[in-house]
Amino acid sequence: MHPDNPKRLATQLPARMREARTAAGLSMRAAAERMPPELAVTHPTISKWERGGALPSLRQLGALATLYNVHPQWFTEERAEVLGLRHRKFKSKVRKADDAAFRRDAGLAANALLRLRKVLGVKPSAGPLADEIRFDDDTTPAVAATKVRELLGLGTGPIYNLVAVLADAGISSVELETSLGIDGAAGVVNGHPFMFVALDRPADRVRLTCAHEVGHIVFGDCDDGRVPSEEGPTEDRAFDFGSHLILPHERLVEAFRGRSFLKLVKTKEEFGISVSAMIYRAREAGEISETLAARLWKDMARRGWRRDEPGNVRWERADELESHIEVLLHESGWDWEQIEHAAGIPREQLQIRLDRAMRRSGFGGPPTGSEEDYLEGDEERSGVIPFRSQPDR
Ligand SMILES: [Zn+2]
Repeated sequence: MHPDNPKRLATQLPARMREARTAAGLSMRAAAERMPPELAVTHPTISKWERGGALPSLRQLGALATLYNVHPQWFTEERAEVLGLRHRKFKSKVRKADDAAFRRDAGLAANALLRLRKVLGVKPSAGPLADEIRFDDDTTPAVAATKVRELLGLGTGPIYNLVAVLADAGISSVELETSLGIDGAAGVVNGHPFMFVALDRPADRVRLTCAHEVGHIVFGDCDDGRVPSEEGPTEDRAFDFGSHLILPHERLVEAFRGRSFLKLVKTKEEFGISVSAMIYRAREAGEISETLAARLWKDMARRGWRRDEPGNVRWERADELESHIEVLLHESGWDWEQIEHAAGIPREQLQIRLDRAMRRSGFGGPPTGSEEDYLEGDEERSGVIPFRSQPDR
């Protein structure tokens, strides 16, 4: 506890208890029922705690922490809030408890990163994306993406390691594993733009998600005090920006010149963007006709490429937090207790993070089933390039 600041604690503790319970997906009644017998309480008591009408004892608070799967100090510690957190809502798909859990985990991860940085004396990069570059609503996503590429000195080439480039440019990233359909989110913590990414996805999708979140940041969608804009158009703009950031327009046009599917796959591997995304964009931009686009979709579906595209994309890593944990363990000689205390996340979760970061290597997703398709050898699946100048009848 912080006896030095009882006022802050009095307002913060009730809110934190509610936040943790909601994130754990428990009703007040369910929480009360799950308390250990020696600390039994009724659900009106829980309600009273969460309204600030009474304080739990330290032991009761400890039991709540266990019940809600948070570190006890999480209730009382000072931490930076994630402001303007924006993630895509899949309408009814995201349950309230899942949403609350996502927000809590994002806050915990961001705070852990900030604290370990402080411990290690690591300064976040103050690149142009930290706060300098913000576009207004009149700027098109393509123009904004070109401008960002220019500023970062990227020309029109591929961005090999997007997360690292963004870190240099002033956007911090942390991995966030979620059981729900959220691919990523952007928010502002302590005045720094943050990106939260689920890495357990196909690598091309992860890259597009990261670039999408940059779109939210540079268009100021996460800025404090901004009136929440309409979901649909804001999401479209972020995707459009992201797609252009990963693959500039002229390179997209080039990819479709020559009508070779192989060229598309090579562009995919070079730039780290899915063939589907390229077809979608080329059609939107009028670079290919509706008819050709429809034929390409059909051909891809027939070959099973809508589910499993050919071409490999390199994994992104968002492991700054995990790297700091390693430095503390191996260079500073800290033990897990010290690390979990500094990070504010239980050690089991930190260990899982580290383990996951270690395992993630190589390329995203299995190499496509092209070999098998090829061996099966019938004409439908022989890997014939699906570009055709005439409809097949
Ligand atoms: Zn979004």
